[in-house]
Amino acid sequence: MNNLRFIINNADETARTGILQVNDQRVRTPILVQTGDELARLAPLKLEQIGVKITKVNGLKWWLKYGEELSKVGDLHQLYHWNGLLLVDLQTDYAYQLAKPRGKKNNGVRFHDPETGQLKFWQPETALKVQKILGADVFQSFDRAGDYYDPVDDLAAGVAQTQAWLEINKKVAGMTFANVVGGGLKKLRQESVKAVMADAFAGYEISGIPSTLSNQEFNRIINEMVSMLPNEQLRYLPTATTLTQMLFAVLAGVDLIDSDLAAKKAAKGVALVGKGLESLHLDRQHFRFDKRPLEQGCGCPVCQTGYSRALIHNLIIDGRFYGEQLLLQHNLFTLNRLINNLQQAIAAQQIKSFVQELLYNH
Ligand SMILES: [Zn+2]
Repeated sequence: MNNLRFIINNADETARTGILQVNDQRVRTPILVQTGDELARLAPLKLEQIGVKITKVNGLKWWLKYGEELSKVGDLHQLYHWNGLLLVDLQTDYAYQLAKPRGKKNNGVRFHDPETGQLKFWQPETALKVQKILGADVFQSFDRAGDYYDPVDDLAAGVAQTQAWLEINKKVAGMTFANVVGGGLKKLRQESVKAVMADAFAGYEISGIPSTLSNQEFNRIINEMVSMLPNEQLRYLPTATTLTQMLFAVLAGVDLIDSDLAAKKAAKGVALVGKGLESLHLDRQHFRFDKRPLEQGCGCPVCQTGYSRALIHNLIIDGRFYGEQLLLQHNLFTLNRLINNLQQAIAAQQIKSFVQELLYNH
């Protein structure tokens, strides 16, 4: 049986650091959950080397691809030789986007797979099974996803449905992040939180907060949400945040935060450098003969090896995946270093000034 423990060890205003222990793995929080398909892009040893501890894979995609044969694929830790923690995303938002109104059932969501045109029925029981097969270390509960600004009735229906589906994860409640939904509406969010509190889940998953919100609205909802949650339990934000949103989330006291920033930037030929994590666009002409590393003094394997901006520029211009891989390594290292610095700032009771300086630089 799986085992999950979470202990908070430092707090500075609303921000906090903690230790999350899942089975024999211990990670320090706040931490980034890498959602940029990293396992398919870099060798696991490299990921560990640059400080990646948790990755998330697209469970719906695996299920659509393999269907009944998914059990033959089995645990992704073994398939990828990945020793870190693994989350399996349910991608309910994607399924609901594809569903017609009559496809939104009280036992799942029916939609046409755009790849094959086939009609698929994504259901909470199936989603839990898929997570178990693929070896998820912590489970996610199924939610009825909607738009943040949906009409109140739709959001309320989403809250009721998501609450009802929590039942399916009850047997594994101690290993499940329970979904809290309700768009931007305080009353609905409160109701959603209440439903979870009645049970002993591993933590709260703050769902339905898109990264497309304005920084102001994002900051408002995330602080409002966190203020409703019991202090001692884990908080997980499954939004692939921007850098500013990630800082807001850490300040508010979120423990786990999704991030595809490193991969997204690398795919665009961008290296994140400097204290404020500025973007260096390596595809630009002036890097053609630039012999410097991506960042002077950077401890990542790419900069340490001495790969130059000129080389990476060259690889990117020629469309070589290796160039993107080098950027991904540097970016992941840089983001993990930032997270370490944030943890230290919280421990030193200086998180607010630390973040303010970062936001100002950015
Ligand atoms: Zn570097």
